[in-house]
Amino acid sequence: MYHDNIVNPTNNKNFTSDRILNNQDLHFDQQHIWHPYTSAINPLPCYQVTKADGVYIHLSSGEKLVDGVSSWWTAIHGYNHPALNDALKAQVDDFSHVMFGGLTHIPAIDLCRTLIDLTPEGLDRVFLADSGSVSVEVAMKMALQYWACQGNDRKKRFITPRNGYHGDTFAAMSVCDPINGMHNIFTGTLTQQVFAPAPQTRFDKQWNEDDVKPLEDLISKHHNELAGLIIEPIVQNAGGMRIYHPEYLKRCRQLCDDYSILLICDEIATGFGRTGKLFACEHADISPDIMCLGKALTGGYISLAATLCSEDIAQGVCQGEPGVFMHGPTFMGNALACSVANASLSLIQQGHWQQQVAAIEKQLNSELVACLELDSVADVRVLGAIGVVECKAPIDVAQLQKIFVKQGVWIRPFGKLVYIMPPYIITPEQLQQLTRGIYQALR
Ligand SMILES: *Cc1c(COP(=O)(O)O)cnc(C)c1O
Repeated sequence: MYHDNIVNPTNNKNFTSDRILNNQDLHFDQQHIWHPYTSAINPLPCYQVTKADGVYIHLSSGEKLVDGVSSWWTAIHGYNHPALNDALKAQVDDFSHVMFGGLTHIPAIDLCRTLIDLTPEGLDRVFLADSGSVSVEVAMKMALQYWACQGNDRKKRFITPRNGYHGDTFAAMSVCDPINGMHNIFTGTLTQQVFAPAPQTRFDKQWNEDDVKPLEDLISKHHNELAGLIIEPIVQNAGGMRIYHPEYLKRCRQLCDDYSILLICDEIATGFGRTGKLFACEHADISPDIMCLGKALTGGYISLAATLCSEDIAQGVCQGEPGVFMHGPTFMGNALACSVANASLSLIQQGHWQQQVAAIEKQLNSELVACLELDSVADVRVLGAIGVVECKAPIDVAQLQKIFVKQGVWIRPFGKLVYIMPPYIITPEQLQQLTRGIYQALR
């Protein structure tokens, strides 16, 4: 037992979150630490978290906030979940990580078996990646390598609808919305992809045949150079929180078949029940050639993502030279992440999410409509456990967030959007606190 041979060099307390930030800590945070999408010079304020439990995030100032964001779509079962905690603790005692090159283990095998079982028909090969953006890189590389291995050296671009979001790495950035995609400063260095207008027909409205025409025209014009079509099924999230008609996705599948283009569905946000189906693809009853999963995969515990593909793609990628897929993250198949993902998926497989998400959808529909009375509000839309209030003008995030925290809710608006996607375990009372919070803050 090598534990006995080392002296514990520090008071363990220093590594826990029990210590309350002082002014020096806050100053250090502001001077030295990047937070996502905020200025390093004049950053938005941060709140210190000391604990998170169930749907609550506890702040050092004593407030207890109902979480409306699930830490960006991830914490679907809530925080500090006993089953997820136990899975992690048990795995730590066996091993936390071993390289995946030449080694394998039960947590990864169990996870991949479950993913193949749960995902739409035909997705039979799994590549474990370490974050959503990487899984998108992997998906795009698979598509490119697939065509190259077929001896086709022309299919090197991707087509995608506008208002998409697929991550922050370079290939992923190239298929994000070219204007609002948060990356337009890099336009000159990104591969120029083909952008179609975003789908216009709303999820619950009558399908309009004209909606898919521009995509069809672009595909018929460019198909010889197109390796793939990449799309977020049914809900475009960070690029505008738009919810579109399933027929559009059906047509994407059809057009890809007709023109020999691979369909990549990015289910990183929509996967694992969020839209009311286990995967949003199911609303359109289609299977993609390649699917990206991430975010809720580990129930919000550790970064893990997966790129699934069909047997045909896997065969195609590994034919001829170089004969292997050219990607292999250091932390591929991390055992801690796989174990906690297995625990999360086994909660999913118990099936309670279906009633939970349906109940959240019903309540969001009945309570968020009130916001339509407000002068500042342009639109309200709901699907599954996702509620969106679109304002007429951009929101002052710091100011609104202060109001939210005062009301005991954690909601983080962006652009003109106030949106919530709470943990599935939220109670009607807690959810009402969120919807009321939005209404009060916007009024
Ligand atoms: C969040 C997200 C990504 C990027 O995932 P990261 O884990 O942040 O790299 C990609 N695509 C979609 C649809 C997402 O919501």
